[in-house]
Amino acid sequence: MSELKQMNHANLQNLHDKAKEAFEAAKKENLSLNMARGKPSPEQLKLSLELLNTVTADNMDDHFSVLNYGMVDGLPEAKELFKELLEVNTEEIIIGGNASLNIMHDLISKALIKGVIDSDRPWGKEDHVKFIAPVPGYDRHFTICEQYDIEMISVDMLEDGPDMDKVEELVRNDASIKGIWCVPKYSNPEGITYSDEVVDRLAKMETKAKDFKIFWDNAYAVHDLTDNPPTLKNMLEACKQADNPNRVFMFASTSKITFPGSGVAAVAASKENIDFINSQLSVQTIGPDKVNQLRHVRFFQNYDNILTHMKKHAEIMKPKFDKVIEILHSKLDSYGIASWTEPEGGYFISLDTMDNCASEVIRLAREAGVTLTGAGAAFPYGQDPRDRNIRIAPSFPSLGEVEKAIDVLCTCIILVSTEKFL
Ligand code: PMP
Repeated sequence: MSELKQMNHANLQNLHDKAKEAFEAAKKENLSLNMARGKPSPEQLKLSLELLNTVTADNMDDHFSVLNYGMVDGLPEAKELFKELLEVNTEEIIIGGNASLNIMHDLISKALIKGVIDSDRPWGKEDHVKFIAPVPGYDRHFTICEQYDIEMISVDMLEDGPDMDKVEELVRNDASIKGIWCVPKYSNPEGITYSDEVVDRLAKMETKAKDFKIFWDNAYAVHDLTDNPPTLKNMLEACKQADNPNRVFMFASTSKITFPGSGVAAVAASKENIDFINSQLSVQTIGPDKVNQLRHVRFFQNYDNILTHMKKHAEIMKPKFDKVIEILHSKLDSYGIASWTEPEGGYFISLDTMDNCASEVIRLAREAGVTLTGAGAAFPYGQDPRDRNIRIAPSFPSLGEVEKAIDVLCTCIILVSTEKFL
């Protein structure tokens, strides 16, 4: 095999025709495979079923305060459990409802209406509010910005985090840039973990907006697939050391540890920030669902048990990641028409086709019964400037289905790429 751009016309035509044949055959199979979202598989959800048995009518005698109103910032035992995951102390954490996205959305909307702790005025009273969006990134972060007319400035992700030269230059000169989205461990979709240097530069950088905030979405903090996972430097500590203790909001949830629909989410930040958030939260609610927090506390008991539990997830997820990578190598390696990440954890693999191919590949895959995340989803406003990025989410389908789906994806990539050269 040789790279497509070096192939003679006859070989190209031959490769194209074979791909076309495989594509038509796949269509006849009436497949219905979905790799669009990073949902845990039923097998993964089963790992936490016992959690539902931890709170019953028979074992709540001493726990009327859990059943009642109160504890706006969460159950103290839940703070004890999750403080290790977030690497903070219990004064620096709020345990909330089932979704970290909800907390992020809330913080942004309140910042627009009231400002954050160090604002002179609400963000919404500024002429422009902008956020830095490392790309490719998590579509739902970008949708929050779109919803509230926060302009996004794309900055490329490099191998160890966002392009910090670019980020530093932007925030130093533009007071309307109020924040940055970061998925610092096993980023969505590339699976990149930020280096210590990137963490330090984010913590230290000079920002023209004095109320600049880092939205540190550590959704995949313990979602390792290998025995020697990369480590992520503690962002709150780095901010404290840089004399910017109020710069960061850190998020985590058990959505992909227990149940995405009924997990527990948390935000961590400096004590000053947490007090400020709590004062707003107590207007909004008289307390979170502490029963679910107690279920999680009883199910896990301690942080080590969370890590042991995550190893069971990894046993289910790793073969799927391996299968995707194996097929991509075997079907595409030497053609020079795609590159992809090989993450050590998280939920996604990010694949780049040649420029201007991704939407057509995704459209064809769908025609053959394989649904992938929409083209451009990982970019602000749904616009991938090079139309090349495809997010692969292998968690939900079975191993056999993953194999089939990636096979079809490769066929579509070859088909679209050969057509570009013919
Ligand atoms: N952040 C990232 C980076 C995610 O990938 C996801 C889930 N796909 C979420 C947040 C959502 O988390 P939650 O269920 O806690 O809202």
